Amino acid sequence: MTVTGRGPDRAPSDEREERGVTAPVIGVLALQGDVREHVAALAGAGADARPVRRPAELDVVDGLVIPGGESTTISKLADIFEMREPIDKRIAGGMPVYGSCAGMIMLAAEVLDGRPDQRGFAGIDMTVRRNAFGRQVDSFEAPVEIAGVEGEPFHAIFIRAPWVERVGAGVEVLGRVTEGPAAGRIVAVRQGHLVATSFHPELTGDLRLHRYFVDLVRAAA
Ligand code: GLN
Repeated sequence: MTVTGRGPDRAPSDEREERGVTAPVIGVLALQGDVREHVAALAGAGADARPVRRPAELDVVDGLVIPGGESTTISKLADIFEMREPIDKRIAGGMPVYGSCAGMIMLAAEVLDGRPDQRGFAGIDMTVRRNAFGRQVDSFEAPVEIAGVEGEPFHAIFIRAPWVERVGAGVEVLGRVTEGPAAGRIVAVRQGHLVATSFHPELTGDLRLHRYFVDLVRAAA
């Protein structure tokens, strides 16, 4: 292989373009939840994926995934591991973040049915309701179409999932439940560099959402 264009006259933007075709470094917040599944899905989608639990590990990532799990626990551990302020700062600086399920709750400006002491990151202008689909239905599956993702609807798995009850003017609705008693409920959103879904694409082997996020990180880098 011949590499051309190297030399002292190369502009910094050329370097950046070249880096753009290499794998972006994407962290998965590894305080609690299904970290391994997201690392595997991100790697499958072309990222250099790694768990992130310390501020120094956060410093070197181009993007972050907040996994499913338990938002009250993630909130508590974010304080204990002193990750709250560093994550808020990176979000303010434009770092792309994708939150799935508990991760969506951690990205919501307002949470209904939360614990009074749980706190999210400086995230998406939306209100989510925890465990919204009802106590009887602990988990269920439904097709969801995502704007900007081609092909079949997602086979979405919801596990004690939140839904979105309000979105601000700057928030784009990416997907809603299309069938059953919860039809019409908002379950995927995006606000600029922040993306959130109520469901768990990392559990189905369908990498389209992770690819969507990897592309977003690449574009932002
Ligand atoms: N119910 C959980 C919470 O409130 C979310 C569940 C999940 O992430 N699968 O954080």
